[in-house]
Amino acid sequence: MDHTSRRSFLAASAALAAAGVLQAHARAHQPQGDAKAPNDPHKRGPVVIASLNGRPACDRAAELLAQGYDPADAVVQGVRIVEDDPNDDSVGYGGLPNADGVVELDSCVMHGPTHKSGAVAGIRNIKNPAMVALRVLRETDHCLLVGEGAYLFAISKGFRHEDLLTDHARREWLNWKHNMSRDDDWLNDDERDAPSGKTWDLLPWQSAPGDDNTPRTNDGPDFRKKTSARPYIMEVTGTVHCSALTAGGDIASVTSTSGLNWKIPGRVGDSPIIGAGNYCDNDIGAAGSTGRGEANITTCASARIVDFMERGMSPTEACLAMCDYIVKHTKEKRLLRPDGTPNFDLKFYALRKDGAYGAASLFSGGQFSAFDGSGPAKVLPMAFRLQRPNA
Ligand code: ASP
Repeated sequence: MDHTSRRSFLAASAALAAAGVLQAHARAHQPQGDAKAPNDPHKRGPVVIASLNGRPACDRAAELLAQGYDPADAVVQGVRIVEDDPNDDSVGYGGLPNADGVVELDSCVMHGPTHKSGAVAGIRNIKNPAMVALRVLRETDHCLLVGEGAYLFAISKGFRHEDLLTDHARREWLNWKHNMSRDDDWLNDDERDAPSGKTWDLLPWQSAPGDDNTPRTNDGPDFRKKTSARPYIMEVTGTVHCSALTAGGDIASVTSTSGLNWKIPGRVGDSPIIGAGNYCDNDIGAAGSTGRGEANITTCASARIVDFMERGMSPTEACLAMCDYIVKHTKEKRLLRPDGTPNFDLKFYALRKDGAYGAASLFSGGQFSAFDGSGPAKVLPMAFRLQRPNA
């Protein structure tokens, strides 16, 4: 395809995607620089992109790439920083638990050069699910291990059994439990009489300096308290995604999460599902997603974004086309706002073989991280399709 016809193809495909009706067209040639959107930074590797909370992961992965590590090891060791961080309650240690108060983690890794993936879902008591997923990729013939099997596999490989529930996550879980239904036997906040003074709610072994001794501190962001009215953002979510392109043009990607907080025990999200929360093709690029996993699973979001890039879209265009696809395919009434658009958010990240990268979220205000040559990684705004309410 020459440059002129390629440009017409791009204009046509962008218009079709915007209308939500992109159909299968003849495969475009390998994407070249002319396919990038004006705001898509563009260079060859090394490039590492990540969700906003993955900024340290970008720098660590870039460091390891410079030392000659395989891109899968680089991204997995990058997100390990986030998995180990007790203050990130969406991933690994300190992740918010399921409805029973148990932390269950999901992760998958994909390795472009071998087009192989490894994943674990619903794994308990293992802090670094991405490292276990990489073991599944490298040391088994399988793509996905779940629950007890994933745990036993990790233990057999020398991973340690650890308690992943931090006090912060436990308090958040109890707060949710108390307020989840007016009809249950847990008193909602507005059903409790105010005490006559300070209450001593520390357990005997807890004497953290600075703790104000309140049992249910409601110390999360405000929207966590909105358990009954949900006009926007159905669940508090968070996840880390990281994709890397080496100087030699190889690609790997990883997604790791504790999933939706208060999920039904056993629920598996999109993060360990290849093609949904993570996907890469060494000839095209990588994509990942964070946000409402069910929407990613039912739309095969990450594989679709890579496919959009193969058809000629830039990374940002591909992520925006995926937003349009989600809007078009969100049909359940409980998931719609009065104007017919989704009441949940999703974020998409894409990195192309030639080093172009971009990201988009359904709602405005999203940011992502990128290392594209020199550190520290930058924080960049995401493109978006819908204005965040009250923004
Ligand atoms: N995608 C994750 C899941 O559904 C959650 C998130 O990204 O916040 O498990």
